Amino acid sequence: MATSNCFPFALQGFRIARVETYNDLLVIQACSIARTATCPCCGKPSTQIHCHYTRSPRDLPCNGRRVRLVLDVRRFRCSNDHCEHQTFAERLPHLVPVHGQRTTQLTRALRAMTFEVTAEAGARITRHLNMPVSADTLLRIIRRTVMEPAPTPRVLGVDDWAFKKGNRYGTILVDLERRYPVDLLPDRTAETLAAWLEAHPGIEIVSRDRSNEYIAAITAGAPQAVQVADRWHLLRNLSDAVIRLLEKHVKALRQAARHVQGDPVSDEQPEFTTQTQIAQPVTVRQLRFSEVKRLAAEGYSQRAIARHLHIGRNTVRRYLASDEPPRYQLRGPRASAITAYVPYLETRWTEGCHNSRLLWQELRHQGYPGSYSSIRRFVQRYRTGRRRASSSLPAVVRPLSLRQAAWMFVRPPEQLSAEQEAYRIALCAVCPEIAAAYELTQRFVLMVRHRQVDRLDPWLADAQSSGLSQLKRFQRDCTMTMMLFVLPLNWSGAVGKSKGRSTA
Ligand SMILES: [Zn+2]
Repeated sequence: MATSNCFPFALQGFRIARVETYNDLLVIQACSIARTATCPCCGKPSTQIHCHYTRSPRDLPCNGRRVRLVLDVRRFRCSNDHCEHQTFAERLPHLVPVHGQRTTQLTRALRAMTFEVTAEAGARITRHLNMPVSADTLLRIIRRTVMEPAPTPRVLGVDDWAFKKGNRYGTILVDLERRYPVDLLPDRTAETLAAWLEAHPGIEIVSRDRSNEYIAAITAGAPQAVQVADRWHLLRNLSDAVIRLLEKHVKALRQAARHVQGDPVSDEQPEFTTQTQIAQPVTVRQLRFSEVKRLAAEGYSQRAIARHLHIGRNTVRRYLASDEPPRYQLRGPRASAITAYVPYLETRWTEGCHNSRLLWQELRHQGYPGSYSSIRRFVQRYRTGRRRASSSLPAVVRPLSLRQAAWMFVRPPEQLSAEQEAYRIALCAVCPEIAAAYELTQRFVLMVRHRQVDRLDPWLADAQSSGLSQLKRFQRDCTMTMMLFVLPLNWSGAVGKSKGRSTA
């Protein structure tokens, strides 16, 4: 134990009496030196000390050590005869709250940290910083924080908010100009939102999703406000429409997957009988070749074609100079741990051994490093006869999920990887209905990104005449909210005063 009287440590209103260290703990003893204290009940100052007592709050760490203050503080006798209280404890407003176990500055540091990281991470950090507190304590500090009420927004975003995903939902209100959440409502009912809107007059624009509850609430609570759909929800609704469309064309998804693998169209026939139906085995490169030719015939420049198909301009030039589709080398099966043992497995299979566990054990004796499950999968494919004629390895045809495919539809082509773009092109080539939907989808996405409101009506007309029933419901959404993408997700351009860059 070391003792010192000289210590560069200031405690406002106190005299430091003693500083002691115990391993990683620093104990600072100090006495209050204020002559008077004010009664918190009647506000009258008093100089009559009733008794002394000790408080020991924790403080910010010092020099790598935990710090505990041992404060000699006093109770005063109230000098007001009519006061409810005979005595009162002196207040230390700058140092530690009335019943606090931590100094104000320690709590402030913990609060600032917990707002930046999670409570659990915060708790771990506090241990490293020698001011250890639990995650629960950090959460309590956050919950007790008094936030200044946010000003009523001019442009309000309303959306679902999950208190617990799949379980309990509320409503989140966001100031879309300041990009700051304004409030969380405990549920998603029209009454709650309408009451909030009535209590916050002055909202000019409300952005919302398709929920009828929200529509009713905004109409009742803020009738003056213009209701708009934001770009995210528009694109989300569009993506849902594409999923509904693709649900009908699962076979086309599978076929496209085969094309991307360089596998000839084999056992399954295309579900459409149209002039674009592919009779010959088609590879991605060939599809791309015909796409290049088609676009060139429509008058697009080489540069535009290259950009649209996400290929190099040299490739475009080469394709245009040639009459023959490029020859595609069929890719062999991917080598895996099992490849070297396939001949053995085939021999054993023809000998009549169909037991996957036995085969696996035999292979392990030969040094096969792979797992039992891959042998079981292999045998399973033999059993069901789903074996590729051209290869001794089982075929792996993995079409994209509906949502993945729909996602490719609403992404700009330049943001897709080469494989995704190849798959997309194959998909459009397999099915003319999908191709038409893709063209409409991309037009809509561009329109929304660049806020080309004037192109909405022609688009609606084209969507109507396309006969794609899945887009009908989506069309209704668009016609209902005509201001749809005047106000984009990033409100910068459209909302006069606010600055920032455009998302487009
Ligand atoms: Zn008093």
